Amino acid sequence: MKTTIANVHKHVNETVTIGAWLHNKRSSGKIAFLQLRDGTGFIQGVVVKAQVDEETFDLSKKLTQESSLYVTGNIVEDTRSPLGYEMQVEKVELIQEAVDYPITPKEHGTEFLMDHRHLWLRSSKQHAIMKVRNEIIRATYEFFNQEGFVKVDPPILTGASAEGTTELFHTKYFDEDAYLSQSGQLYMEAAAMALGRVFSFGPTFRAEKSKTRRHLIEFWMIEPEMAFMDHDDSLEVQEQYVSHVVQSVLKNCKIELNTLERDTSKLENIKAPFPRITYDEAIEFLHEKGFDDIQWGDDFGAPHETAIAESYDKPVFITHFPLEIKAFYMKPDPNNPNVALCADLIAPEGYGEIIGGSERIDDLDLMKQRYEEHDLTGPAYQWYLQLREYGSVPHSGFGLGLERTVAWISGIEHIRETIPFPRLLNRLYP
Ligand code: ATP
Ligand code: MG
Ligand code: MG
Ligand code: MG
Repeated sequence: MKTTIANVHKHVNETVTIGAWLHNKRSSGKIAFLQLRDGTGFIQGVVVKAQVDEETFDLSKKLTQESSLYVTGNIVEDTRSPLGYEMQVEKVELIQEAVDYPITPKEHGTEFLMDHRHLWLRSSKQHAIMKVRNEIIRATYEFFNQEGFVKVDPPILTGASAEGTTELFHTKYFDEDAYLSQSGQLYMEAAAMALGRVFSFGPTFRAEKSKTRRHLIEFWMIEPEMAFMDHDDSLEVQEQYVSHVVQSVLKNCKIELNTLERDTSKLENIKAPFPRITYDEAIEFLHEKGFDDIQWGDDFGAPHETAIAESYDKPVFITHFPLEIKAFYMKPDPNNPNVALCADLIAPEGYGEIIGGSERIDDLDLMKQRYEEHDLTGPAYQWYLQLREYGSVPHSGFGLGLERTVAWISGIEHIRETIPFPRLLNRLYP
């Protein structure tokens, strides 16, 4: 019977066949240990000369890394392996013999690995990161479905931007100008007025010429939008959601976190509620710490976010940013109209901003005023204004960057390893 490595626990003391690639091999005169990889996991196959036919043993000894195989054998429990099982091999059939594999076990620089991303994905570390990414996606759908959100897919080709035009990818839409979406937010507000609570999950494009370990050109964003929810209500959803994601990865990705050598004690206490500080308090704190490069009215850079995060063992909300540095749709604080009802969520351990969110302006006249100030004209923006004419309600939303979240939970230094095929400055392939 054919099975997968993830399912061998259902076949203890049974003979099964696994389709797999040879990940690694050790052999001596009378025994060969085959590390097998099938995408669902890794298992060791033990080939004992005295117990298999000559052909299988000879083949096992000369197998090259990444050769594709059908391996048949008996599954036994093995407490020493991370999986808890190994295979006593009875037969090995070669599908294709791989030529000299360019990557492991040699050491390589980043550029070489990035050039070979299509092969690098086969390494146990990259495999573990992709599994964590998948679990975050699964837990995201689970959370928002449980909370009664409807998934809505905003367009990727858009006629206007949500945040300004400097970081937009421009393209032609027949005779018109179009841009690749850098946020689905405006559309999600319309969707929230139709469906109450909605979330989107899709690719986002930013032509940012920044070369940091936190910025991709193409990344995936989860954007919930909620009618009848104010700024504080939204923060509660955010902390519940992030807690659910972290706890799900801890529960369902034990092998992967172990492979990544992640210090899970740093994740175990990630449970709502999260601390909140205001932008003013954050500025004051930074000045006390000796950061004289930042003034009231500046946005935080990575060193500032890292310094603030160091005081907490959970993600921290920084709230009430100056209105002038935030997007046109954010609602001013009625108690202090110089600041917005908004927050960034900063991850611990120097991973930076993972969420940006706000309450949106729901008043028609105030929004009209913003349109004038920001010079938003033309059909691309008219429909959005109209949302405020038909039963406008308080509403809030936020955007969480998937790859930043994968980097933090996996403990990965650079964001390029958190997406299968990263688009970076100067890198459009593989
Ligand atoms: P930053 O200040 O780090 O540049 P931002 O404030 O520009 O981020 P938002 O527009 O608030 O980002 O987008 C919401 C979320 O999307 C961010 O909190 C972050 O998690 C993620 N994000 C933003 N830009 C990028 C990027 N270039 N690559 C990967 N993730 C990103
Ligand atoms: Mg940015
Ligand atoms: Mg930011
Ligand atoms: Mg932001």
